[in-house]
Amino acid sequence: MLSKSLQDAINEQIRNEVESAYLYLSMSAHCEAVNLPGAAHWLQAQWQEELSHAMKLFKYVYERGGRVTLHAIEKPAAKFSNLLGIFQQVLTHEQKVTALINDLYKAATKEQDFATQVELQWFIKEQVEEEKNASEIIEMLKMSGESGPVLLMVDRQLGARSKG
Ligand code: FE
Repeated sequence: MLSKSLQDAINEQIRNEVESAYLYLSMSAHCEAVNLPGAAHWLQAQWQEELSHAMKLFKYVYERGGRVTLHAIEKPAAKFSNLLGIFQQVLTHEQKVTALINDLYKAATKEQDFATQVELQWFIKEQVEEEKNASEIIEMLKMSGESGPVLLMVDRQLGARSKG
């Protein structure tokens, strides 16, 4: 069974995942509004992926005989800068999430909760992927400028992402 303190910490991480999802949906809404349908699509796939992270933890809590309690999430920002700025914000956000997952892993290690460590290893690997994806998009956007054909090409490429 999960300890009370790990259960609380995982419940907090469920909140963080849903809050991430909400931030990406807000970014997607902005991209729709400024005619970047590819980026809007990419961010919607990301919103779904974050929700699936929350649900993975939700299921895990019950597998270990715990109880999920949901917390309030922050209202996400609604105004964003250009696409480069948005993906820089995505990267910064994912780095923050990585630190939170690492803290959770440290707590599970301290308690010698091996099952939680194994569960979190999936998330640790996932964060490597999230940071890599955002970094690659940032590099493409650095070459594309504020508008013009290269930006449109990048937007089209973002639009090709399959929905998580
Ligand atoms: Fe996540």
